[in-house]
Amino acid sequence: MGYVKECEATAHQRVAEAEMRIREVGTPGMQRAAEVKMLEAAEELDRIQLAGCSLFPGHRGRFVKCTSCGNPFHDEGSYLAHWRYGPTGRLGCERTASILKVMGFVSDEYRYPGESWPEYVLRHPDRQTR
Ligand SMILES: [Zn+2]
Repeated sequence: MGYVKECEATAHQRVAEAEMRIREVGTPGMQRAAEVKMLEAAEELDRIQLAGCSLFPGHRGRFVKCTSCGNPFHDEGSYLAHWRYGPTGRLGCERTASILKVMGFVSDEYRYPGESWPEYVLRHPDRQTR
């Protein structure tokens, strides 16, 4: 199972646990807190599921590629890190190079025989999975 699929399974589990907590809590304050946790868990599940739809594994045999923005990523952890809720709350992948840099991404240069231009592969050192 790939890293994104593992994250999705964990997120499903968190949503199920949050749903159970809502039914168990008694006071209105605790109920509201449980509902907030449930919404957070559901948002994270949405983010991972949407990211999973655009994941192309096996790019150049060892990388992954985003079919939404076309960027290659070093690993699934780095790939997942470029999916986020924007300032307006819209869920999508970040594709602006300068913003990706601010988010902590680094760009590694790979050269292949017979190709004139190098390929730049994005990697997030804190989210890297291999
Ligand atoms: Zn993308």
